Amino acid sequence: MIKFENEELMNISIQQLMIPGDKVAHVQIGNNLEHALLVLTKTGYTAIPVLDPSFALHGLIGMNLIMDNIFGLERIEFEKLEAMKVEDVMDTNIPRLFLDDTLEVGLDLLVNHPFVCVQNSEKIFEGIFTRRAILKRLQKGT
Ligand code: AMP
Repeated sequence: MIKFENEELMNISIQQLMIPGDKVAHVQIGNNLEHALLVLTKTGYTAIPVLDPSFALHGLIGMNLIMDNIFGLERIEFEKLEAMKVEDVMDTNIPRLFLDDTLEVGLDLLVNHPFVCVQNSEKIFEGIFTRRAILKRLQKGT
């Protein structure tokens, strides 16, 4: 685990640093790839969470996964965008943070992921913890 001198800073909870769920772009289980591609393109994000109607977190969907799934052997199979659902291609093997995890725990996960989803004890999506948020806090230094 990465160690920092400033213990107070490292013990700040993820809840205090995350982008809350109502400000996070997402798609829902049942949405097709065309819709996901539209949201990703319009927001400019590389990946976004996949939630169900009760806001439970199921995985992440990104531009790379969508493109990878519509490339056929000889051509791009655009018709798959409408036919395939986000749950057919989403990444379900994702790291998750809990609201009361510390910045220190989050920092370790952000080494390999541009952002990590935050959930509560009932697995309900609460927000995301991004590299930008951590860099802003470190720049502030307190
Ligand atoms: P950042 O650290 O702000 O550059 O964000 C890194 C990644 O986190 C973005 O490429 C998105 O995949 C995701 N992200 C950041 N902010 C949001 C948001 N408001 N809604 C959805 N995804 C986001």
